[in-house]
Amino acid sequence: MDYIIHYDVAAFMITLAIAIHFFYKKNIDTYQNRLFSILIWLELVSSALDLVTIYTIGHPDVVSRGWHYLLNGVYLLSFNATSAVYFTYIINVVKKKRKIKPFEKMLIMVPFTVDVLLTLTTPVTGLVFTITEANEYVHGSLFLILYVNAMLYVAMSQVYSVVYRAVFTMGQSVAVYTYTITSFIVVVIQMMFPFLMIAQFAVSMAVMLIYLSLENPLDYAERELGTYNQTAFEKILTTNIENEKHFSVFAMELDGMQYLSETLGTESANRILKQFAEFMTAAAGKKKVFYLSGNRFAVVSESRKETWEELTGKIRDRCKQPFYTESVALTITALLCVVDYPEDAVRLADIEALIGLCLADAKQRSDEEVIYADISLLEKHRRESQIIQIMKRALQENQFSVFYQPIFSVAKQRFTSAEALIRLQNDELGFISPEEFIPLAEKNGLILEIGEFVFREVCRFIVEEKLLSRGIEYIEVNLSVVQCMQESLYQDLLSVMDEYHLPYPCINLEITETAAVMSHETLMRNMSKLIEHGVNFSLDDYGTGFSNTTFVIKYPFRIVKIDKSMVWSAMEDEKAMYALKYTMAMVKAMGMELVAEGVENEEQIRLLTELGCDFFQGYYYSKPVNGKLFLEKIGA
Ligand code: C2E
Ligand code: CA
Ligand code: CA
Repeated sequence: MDYIIHYDVAAFMITLAIAIHFFYKKNIDTYQNRLFSILIWLELVSSALDLVTIYTIGHPDVVSRGWHYLLNGVYLLSFNATSAVYFTYIINVVKKKRKIKPFEKMLIMVPFTVDVLLTLTTPVTGLVFTITEANEYVHGSLFLILYVNAMLYVAMSQVYSVVYRAVFTMGQSVAVYTYTITSFIVVVIQMMFPFLMIAQFAVSMAVMLIYLSLENPLDYAERELGTYNQTAFEKILTTNIENEKHFSVFAMELDGMQYLSETLGTESANRILKQFAEFMTAAAGKKKVFYLSGNRFAVVSESRKETWEELTGKIRDRCKQPFYTESVALTITALLCVVDYPEDAVRLADIEALIGLCLADAKQRSDEEVIYADISLLEKHRRESQIIQIMKRALQENQFSVFYQPIFSVAKQRFTSAEALIRLQNDELGFISPEEFIPLAEKNGLILEIGEFVFREVCRFIVEEKLLSRGIEYIEVNLSVVQCMQESLYQDLLSVMDEYHLPYPCINLEITETAAVMSHETLMRNMSKLIEHGVNFSLDDYGTGFSNTTFVIKYPFRIVKIDKSMVWSAMEDEKAMYALKYTMAMVKAMGMELVAEGVENEEQIRLLTELGCDFFQGYYYSKPVNGKLFLEKIGA
C-alpha cells in the first residue's frame, strides 16, 4: 500500500511547534499542566514513530524482525496512551469541583490496560499485528479494538464535557466538541481510505485546540522582571486549595519604593525592582518567584517543613548591600511575612488579604521581624472594616452621640466644665469604644467628619442648654491629629461657633503631643489664630508617651491634663509619685492650670489637692453621661 504521509509530517510539525512554545514559556506546575505536557510528549513520540513505522513497513529489510515488533508496538501504545491521557485531562477539568471517583479511575484504566496487554502479547498471539518471517507487517484479528478503545475515550470525554458543561469554559467546550466530531470523521475516512494517514493529524489538532482553549495560553510570566506573575500565583494557590494540599507563602515587600519612585523617578525604581527580582530568582533556587503587584514578591513552597530561614537570611544579607540606580546606590528594607495554608486561611481572598495585613504590620515595626500570619489578624481586619462601615452609616443616620464628663474645680468646689466624649452604639457590635474606632477613623479620613459632628453637637448643646448660666464655663473638645493637620482648622471651627453664636472662650480644645509632633507649623498657626479669638487649649494625656517638656514650653496651652495612668501609678510607686509631684509643680510654675484625669477615689483627691491640682475629672465624680444626665449632675 502506498501511504500518503503528508498529514503525518504536518502532525509532527504542529505538535513540535506547540511543544516548543509550551515548554519555553513560563509554566506553573499544576496537575493539569503536567497532564498536558505528558499529552504533548506522547503525541510527539507517536507522530514521530508513525512516520518511522510507515517507512520501516515500506522497507521491511532496513531493520530486524525484533525491531519491527518494537517500533510498531511502541507506536501503537503511545497512540493509545494519547487518548487515555486526553480523557484523564478532561476528567481533571471536571475534578475542579470534586474528587475523582474509583469508577472513573476504572474508566481511565480499563481500555488502556486492554490495549497494553494486547499489544505486549501480540508477538505471541498475533492478535494486534504480526511481523511475518519476511518482515512484513500484517494486522491481527483484534487490531480494531485499539481504534474502538481510542474512540471510547473520545466518546467518554464528550459525555463528561456535556454533563459537566457548567465547569467548562466556552472555549473548552468548543475544543472538546471539535475533537469529537473530527475524530469520528477521521475514523470513517481512515476506514474508507486506509492509505490516507490522517489520524495523527486529528490528534495534533486536538492538542492544539486544547492548548489554545483548555490550556488557555495565559501568560504566567512577568516579562520585565523575569518572574512569574500574579495570575500564576493565584492559579497555583487555587489548585493547591482545590486539592487541599498544604503550602506556605513567603511574601515580601520592598519598603520605601513609593518614596523612591517619587524622588528618583519610576525608571530608577523599576531598576531596583529588577535587581531585586533577579536576586530573588537566584536565592529561591528551584522555587518559583512571583511578582504580585506594587513592590511585592512571593515564593510558594509545598514542603511541610518549610521554615523560610535560609531565604530570610539571604534576603537580609542582600539588603545590607546597596542596590544601584544610574545615579545612586541605596539600601532597601524588605518587609517579610509567612502565610500558611490551611493553618492561617483557607480561601484565596483571605490569604491575599492576610499577606497585605502582615506586610502592613511589618511596616509598622522597626525590628525587621518576619511576620507570621494567624487567624486573629484576619478577624481583626474584618472587625475593622465592619466598624468603618458602621461609622459611615452612623454619620449618615446620625447615630453618633456626645457624652459629657463633668470636671470639678477645686477652687470653686463645683463642676465648672466638662469633656465631650463621642459615643457609638451599634445593634450588632453593641458599644464600640472610641479607643477602637477613633484610630480607624483617623486612618481613613472619616475623623474629619466625625470631628465636625462632635464640635457642632457641643456648640449646639452649650447654646441650647445655656450652660454658661448653669455655671459651666467651657467644654473641652478632643481634636484628632488629623484635624490639627488641616490648614483650615481655625476657620472651620470659628465659622461653626459663629453659626451658633457661641462665645469663643466657651471652647477648650484638647490636643495630644502626637498632634504637635505630626503637624508642628500648621498646628502653631491654628493655635495662635484660635487663641487670638479667645479659644483655649489643653495638652491632653500628659505623662504618657514622651512627655517632652518642649511642648509645654513652646505651645500656648492654658491647661495640662495629667493622664490617668500617671495618677494611678503615683499611688502605687514612690518614684512615680515623685514624677507626678514635680511634673505638677513644673506645670504650675509655668503658669498653666492642671486637670487630673481618672480620679476614682478620695485618696487620690487628697493627694492631688495637696500637690496643687486645679481640676478633677474621673469616675469618682461622674462617668461620661448623656446631655440630659449631665444637666442633672451639674444640678441646674
Ligand atoms: P481621653 O481624651 O484621654 O478621654 C478620657 C478617657 O478616660 C475617656 O474614655 C473617659 O471615659 C475615661 N475616663 C475618665 N475618667 C475615668 C476614670 O476615672 N477611670 C477610668 N477608667 N476612665 C476614665 P473614652 O470616652 O473611652 O475615650 C477614649 C479616648 O477616645 C479619649 O481619651 C480620646 O482620645 C478619644 N475620644 C473620645 N471622644 C473623642 C472625640 O470626640 N474626638 C476625638 N478626636 N477623640 C475622642
Ligand atoms: Ca481628652
Ligand atoms: Ca486624656
